[in-house]
Amino acid sequence: MRLILLGPPGAGKGTQALRLVDRYHIIQLSTGEMLRAAVKAETAIGLRAKDIMASGALVPDEVVVGIISDRIAEPDAEKGFILDGFPRTVPQAEALDALLKSHGLSLDAVVELRVNESALLHRVEKRVAQMSERGETVRLDDTPEVLSKRLASYRAQTEPLVHYYSERRKLLTIDGMMTIEEVTAEIQRVLDALQATEKKIAAKSSRRRAPAKTSVKASAKAVARQSAPAKPKTSQKSKTPKAAEKASKTAGRTKTAAKRPAKAKTAKKPAKQVVKNVTKRRTRLTKGR
Ligand code: ADP
Repeated sequence: MRLILLGPPGAGKGTQALRLVDRYHIIQLSTGEMLRAAVKAETAIGLRAKDIMASGALVPDEVVVGIISDRIAEPDAEKGFILDGFPRTVPQAEALDALLKSHGLSLDAVVELRVNESALLHRVEKRVAQMSERGETVRLDDTPEVLSKRLASYRAQTEPLVHYYSERRKLLTIDGMMTIEEVTAEIQRVLDALQATEKKIAAKSSRRRAPAKTSVKASAKAVARQSAPAKPKTSQKSKTPKAAEKASKTAGRTKTAAKRPAKAKTAKKPAKQVVKNVTKRRTRLTKGR
């Protein structure tokens, strides 16, 4: 399972990510946490990111893309991951697409936690109070002033990703104003439903692909038979020239079809159907509740 959690600061991404880690046995990759660790360790990246983060602005794309690219390549990411806080800009999303493609991977879903902005300040204040109570170091950027800057950069740079992933049929929007438990249950419900649908689709399309293999094989055999001149029993021998010409044209076509496996006639339709089904299903998942 490969997921993205999308939502403004205070939406509950971190909390829900931890629960998803437990449920799906995948890892959480939080760019915010990685950057805070880098700041603490005073690495080159940390030194570069420190002031930017404290001001509530975004760290340059190439820095976070570099971090994620290295992290995704590690063995513990093989089973899957939840990206929390990444991507945060359209160029980051495009870089992620390219990165996943280069690893032969794809995203399962983008879970957007939608919350009222008015609730966010209160949530962050509560988080700060709880952290102080536990004796934990409070984040430098968890002040009302910096929070409003973080919200502004979310609106300007990250919110366009809602459209980006909705266009790519990956978006699942969850009402983040419910209780933590309710949000967890709702995320699980939509992801379980999504997994079940994807399994069904995969099973269907593999059943549909099966005959295509046979026909490509059969076409290849036919081509081999027709283009083997030394054999005494070629079918062309007994044909009229016109029929022979037709046969050789057909053979040419078959050869091309054999070179471009299954795609030509067989795979296109199911692929369209798959997209349709996923689209229908996702619409039902998010709207038809
Ligand atoms: P939030 O609670 O705002 O979601 P995070 O812990 O995810 O906070 O991130 C904290 C800060 O780290 C951000 O305000 C930003 O400066 C930096 N940061 C984290 N992820 C990214 C990213 N993908 N791109 C750019 N900057 C990032």
